[in-house]
Amino acid sequence: MAARSASRELNVSEIPTVLEEYARHSLHRDPGVVHPPSAMLNRKLSVLREDITKVSADAIVNAANNRLAGGAGVNGAIQAAAGAQLLQECLTLNGCETGDAKITKGYMLPARHVIHTVGPIYYQHDRQVANRLLESCYLRSLQVAVENDVKTIAFPSISTGIFGFPIMEASPVALNTVRQFLQSAEGSTIERVIFVLFGKEDEQVYRMTIPKYFPQSD
Ligand code: ADP
Repeated sequence: MAARSASRELNVSEIPTVLEEYARHSLHRDPGVVHPPSAMLNRKLSVLREDITKVSADAIVNAANNRLAGGAGVNGAIQAAAGAQLLQECLTLNGCETGDAKITKGYMLPARHVIHTVGPIYYQHDRQVANRLLESCYLRSLQVAVENDVKTIAFPSISTGIFGFPIMEASPVALNTVRQFLQSAEGSTIERVIFVLFGKEDEQVYRMTIPKYFPQSD
């Protein structure tokens, strides 16, 4: 029998859905709902605190920079876990515009692909522009996923680290964009979107915000 990798991998099938979390009361109703409840959509969303490099989804999303070169934060963690071939492939892609997304292989990661998107640096834009660029990161990543037959995709919290976007403002943008894509014909082949948060407070913000965009369905 092959030796198990020392680093733990997390399969999508092991990650509870929002639908399951409502049933076990680890997510709670919020009266301020933005969208109507949908069990079908609640079955397609998950949230957890984890290192995204451990998630064995069809694709994980990287919060990259315009050069698609190495960096710190989640980018550094993904580059380190994937190995040097990832950076080599990234350097053939001629960079990436802010708000756009490009795909590579996952190399040594458990994920088959990495979708690299470049979030806005918060203080470089006015608020509306920063929100629009962040929305575009989630939308373009999902479109690139569908074009490449990716059915399960894990997102970190784009732009809320070094790029300085407040997570209280970023999380509704992320959730609203994912919700609208999942309920569109274009997004119908996506089976699971997983928000992977690194910090406890970030996870709490998402758990507070999810019930507004993916309300309990029963
Ligand atoms: P940006 O430059 O887009 O702000 P960062 O990498 O600085 O990107 O941060 C984005 C988010 O990713 C932050 O919330 C940070 O805590 C989180 N993060 C850092 N490392 C990881 C990791 N290994 N897995 C998941 N999220 C991570």
